[in-house]
Amino acid sequence: MTTDPVYNRKNPFPAKLLVHRMLTKEGSLKDTRHFEISLEGSGLEYEVGDALAVCPTNCPELVDEIITALGASPDTMVPLPKEGEAPLKEALTKNYVVTQPNGKLIAAVAEKTGDAELTALLEKENKPKLTEWLWGREVIDLLLGYPDAKFEPAEFALLLRKLQPRLYSIASSIKAHPGEVHLTVAAVRYHSHGRDRKGVCSTYLCDRVDINSTDVPVFVQTSHGFRIPTNPDTPMIMVGPGTGIAPFRAFLEERKAIGAQGKNWLFFGEQRRDFDYLYQEEFESYLEEGVLTRLDTAFSRDQEHKIYVQDRMKENAAEIWKWLEQGAHFYVCGDAARMAKDVDAALHKLVETEGGRSEEEAVVFVKQLRKAKRYQRDVY
Ligand SMILES: Cc1cc2nc3c(=O)[nH]c(=O)nc-3n(C[C@H](O)[C@H](O)[C@H](O)COP(=O)(O)OP(=O)(O)OC[C@H]3O[C@@H](n4cnc5c(N)ncnc54)[C@H](O)[C@@H]3O)c2cc1C
Repeated sequence: MTTDPVYNRKNPFPAKLLVHRMLTKEGSLKDTRHFEISLEGSGLEYEVGDALAVCPTNCPELVDEIITALGASPDTMVPLPKEGEAPLKEALTKNYVVTQPNGKLIAAVAEKTGDAELTALLEKENKPKLTEWLWGREVIDLLLGYPDAKFEPAEFALLLRKLQPRLYSIASSIKAHPGEVHLTVAAVRYHSHGRDRKGVCSTYLCDRVDINSTDVPVFVQTSHGFRIPTNPDTPMIMVGPGTGIAPFRAFLEERKAIGAQGKNWLFFGEQRRDFDYLYQEEFESYLEEGVLTRLDTAFSRDQEHKIYVQDRMKENAAEIWKWLEQGAHFYVCGDAARMAKDVDAALHKLVETEGGRSEEEAVVFVKQLRKAKRYQRDVY
């Protein structure tokens, strides 16, 4: 008897891309896209709130440039991160991080060249300076910037880290799209130290995956604390600017599919309404149908002073408090560095102003919300 293969981190499913479309419009300063991936035949299932892990390959032009800088043959066999070996080109494409360098590579370059600046940066007390120096620099910069550092291909490979899968919040409900998983992906592209740079996985999906052709290795990463309320009547407040919108598209699809009666309030934010309003038609029709009870948007660059989702929360503090009193769950997804902190502060503030709590009592109140799983975050 044969059993179906189980697809997981060790054995990702080679999925096919069904749909790839732009979400941001021409003229946007962002590049955000919608992907629909087939899980047909994988046996993979997911719940809304889960993430899809994608195992990318590196940019082929960058890999070629590194091989040229090494002066190596692409066919030279090199060790793989854990066991086995592969030709250099394949290993640099599939197995190793060839963008952000790690300390081992920098130390090896410093040792081979005796470069005083690099050697000093590696001193323990210079860690902040090293981090600053590394910002926007990649492996190729070390190879081109320090040509006296010569590496054997196998020696070089051992100085690199293992390429890791990237997580993307699932943007669909499997009940609405059986056999499919949808993602909302922002392409990471920037210019630093005189070169154009690309995020590995986001540009793999955006630039190098062909519809119905490329095998995209994926597996489902189950979430352990980002779930819609078990009671379909419980109200939900969702704050998801930028790609933070992804799981809330899934939450709303799920609630529609199961006929949940609970109220749903979405806060969405981006730079400009005309260019960056992700899934505008879908959310506006949800509002018409009554799947969404409220939809509040914050487009930071549409007026002179910046307006963010947390500002919309402040304007609606009394109503948010009313929903919380009715048992609403409060969700946040997206940027961890700033947005999630500002939203958290706005939440604390409205508990004080609308709930009549002191600052300390608001802290306790929010802690209890978290404990009761009524305040959930998926931030990155
Ligand atoms: C639970 C979870 C859910 C997520 N969901 C989503 C989602 O729904 N959609 C989505 O798009 N992403 C999501 N992400 C983020 C996603 O996993 C990746 O981190 C993102 O796509 C970037 O990966 P990458 O491989 O393209 O870039 P990488 O190759 O990892 O490059 C990113 C790195 O580039 C460097 N860098 C970036 N910008 C600059 C700059 N301006 N100057 C200098 N250096 C810079 C930084 O070192 C940064 O760490 C999620 C992450 C987590 C943990």
